[in-house]
Formats: sequence, structure tokens, C-alpha cells
Amino acid sequence: MAGHDGAMNQPDLAVAKSLLPRFDASPTPYHAVETVIAQLEAAGFTNMNTSTVTVPGRQFWHDGGALVAWATSPEHHATSGYRIVGAHTDSPNLRIKPNPDNQTAGWKQLGVEVYGGALLNSWLDRDLGLAGRVVVRTPDGLAVRLFRDDRPILRLPQLAIHLDDEINDKGLKLNRQRHMVPVWGGIASAADFRSYLATRLVVNVDDIVSWDAMPFDLTPAAIVGLNEEFIAAARVDNQLSCFLAVDALIAAAETPGSRIPMIGLFDHEEVGSVSATGAAAPLLSSTIARIQAQLGASPEDAARSRRDSLVISADGAHATHPNYADRHEPDHHIHLNAGPVLKVNAHQRYATDAVTAAQFQMACEAAGSPMQRFISRTDLRCGSTIGPATAALLGISAVDAGCAQLAMHSAREMCGALDPAYFGAVLREAMIG
Ligand code: ZN
Repeated sequence: MAGHDGAMNQPDLAVAKSLLPRFDASPTPYHAVETVIAQLEAAGFTNMNTSTVTVPGRQFWHDGGALVAWATSPEHHATSGYRIVGAHTDSPNLRIKPNPDNQTAGWKQLGVEVYGGALLNSWLDRDLGLAGRVVVRTPDGLAVRLFRDDRPILRLPQLAIHLDDEINDKGLKLNRQRHMVPVWGGIASAADFRSYLATRLVVNVDDIVSWDAMPFDLTPAAIVGLNEEFIAAARVDNQLSCFLAVDALIAAAETPGSRIPMIGLFDHEEVGSVSATGAAAPLLSSTIARIQAQLGASPEDAARSRRDSLVISADGAHATHPNYADRHEPDHHIHLNAGPVLKVNAHQRYATDAVTAAQFQMACEAAGSPMQRFISRTDLRCGSTIGPATAALLGISAVDAGCAQLAMHSAREMCGALDPAYFGAVLREAMIG
């Protein structure tokens, strides 16, 4: 995609368009992993959940909302470094409670918890479907079944302005317990969640054991803006990075370099990453140990391999919002479609340092992509990513970067339509280089 002068020609919308069906196919972290698995298997990757890792090979393993994939070639050896792109499969949303059936004033409602730092107002007045995974009893023991219901069965109606006429001046205050309870039936309707799931999964009610279930916005992902410059979609943070990481890994597997390309997609980033499938778990280190065992690596080899490795923590970045430009650092304005954003924070909320920043910049230059540098206003709290925890767990230096977006943590977020092509090309370059 590089032009004659090394600069990438302005990308077309092909990458953006390839993302839309993947967002729509992935209403939960579990579905996101299924979406990724389908793409990896089509590219010749093998599921290692129950097999011994072999070298060379294109392989992956997965567990719930987490997946690790890699590609080794005959050139790779015990001291080969790794080029790892990390991202997270989860997004802030609502989660159905264990005893969800709820009734007030005759309405049938479903109790939900708020997962992560969701912008609560963004869930109001939307047609919501329901998806997740259910553990069911079968004659052979317990089984995990994914489900999704694309019918608009849930809604969170706003309070009419006549019943709170100061709302536009004083602001909308939403209590998580009282104001975020979706309705799904009226006074005459028979609705209970367990029976609903049993009908949906075609099993007996008594065989429904437990669930991780979550509403999702049914509006399809779309290219928007007068000149088709933007993407509007749910879960841009951070399925966008997950899908670009997969594309880059598949491309890197086709053009093997001296380092081993790998991706780590984690669940639970939005609630702190501390879980068996989160970035605080040894998912990458155990995978690297499996590969190094096959390569015959000694502890000495493993240390040299680590020194030659890099993690790119790929996650969304805040673009400057035109209506709130004062919330952004004045000398670091970030624009959509102006290339991937390198994220820097002195408190190590982002893992970037001068050395890894330079490595990322070299990858951008090699890909012919523009690049931007983000820093939070010094008087505002900075977000974080899987970058610092991953760097600490692996002892591998890391850089935080991603595509610019607006409305982060809304049920429907917005990013540039060209940035995915830029960032994807940079990730591919970084993995091969
Ligand atoms: Zn994120």
C-alpha cells in the first residue's frame, strides 16, 4: 500500500467495510472470540486447546472471551524475539443479574449490573437485543452454549421531560440501581428469564444452570459522515483493535520475519483485567513457554528472546471533541483519519517509553502511515489499557497505541474510516519487522 515516495496512498474504505460485519457478529466477548476463530481457521490456523504446540505452525487457543494466536516458521529458533499485539474483547455494557426477574407497577423488567465505565445515557431509548453464553445440563455433563437474540426485546425508556423539566439545564443523573432496569413486557405479559432462555436454547427450564448475558444495541455498524469519513458502531473500544490485530497476524504469517508474531486478546479489561481470562493472567507467558519448549530454549535463550521482543498494546485513543476542545491537551490535539495515536503517560497508565515510542514510529514510517501523539491534560485523570500489566507480567517492553475515536464507552462509538487501514498496516509492519 506504500506510494512511490514511501508514504502510503490514502487508503480506501476496504478495511473499514471489512470491520462492519465483524462488529455486528460480536455482541459479547465470547462472540468476538468466535468471530476471530472463524477468520483464523479460514487462514489455516489450528486450535491448540487440547493439542501440543508444534513448530513451525499457525496456531491459537481460546478460553471464553480470551484468545492467543501465533505463527512460527522454520526460521524461528530458541532466541527469536516476539512481536505481540495485545487488545481486549470486552466493552462496557449491562449484564443480566442472577435473579433478574423484576416487577414494578406491573411492568416486567430484567435486573442488570453495569459492567465497566459505561456511559449510561447512551443505553436509553435504543432497541436492545440480548446475547451471551449459558451453561446447560446435558446427558454428558455441563455444556456452554452461545446465544444471541436479534429481536428488539429490551428497552430503557427515558423519563419524559415533563416529569423532570430541569433535566437539560441540570444534567441527566442516572442511578445504576433504579434507573437502568430495562423493560421487556407489560402488565399482561408472562415473562421470566429462565423460561425465555430455555425456549431460546430449546432445552428444559431445569437444564438452564447459569449465564453471562448482556443486552446489545441492534443498530448495525455503519460508515457515516457527508463524505463517508467515519465509522459509527458499538464496541469500537476495543473490538476494532482485536480485528486489526488478527488481520495483521494473518498477513505476518504469510510473510514471516525474524520475530514470532503473536496476538493476545483479553477479556475483563474494562473492570481491571484481574481474571483467568484477563491481561493479569499468564496467558501470553504460558503460550510463549509452550512455544519455547518446542524450540528447545534454555533459560538463557528465553532471556535473550525477551530482550528482542515488543508488545504493542492496541486500544482506542481520545480524538479532540469539537464541542469540548478544552477537555484536551492544547498542544496534542488528535484528529480522526490522521493516523494511529501513540499514547504517553508519565505515570505508566500507558506502557510507552522513549524507546518503544521510537520503535512504533519506525513501524509507522515503514508502513508509510501518519502518526499522532496523545497525552491527557495534566489536571485530568488518564485512562489505562492492558499495556502496563502485560509489560510487567512478561518483562517485555511495550508501547500503547490505537485508533482515535469519540464517545468512548458509549453504546455507539465513532472513529475514522481511514484510520483502521493505517493502523492495520502499522501493526503488520511491526509484526514482520
Ligand atoms: Zn479499551
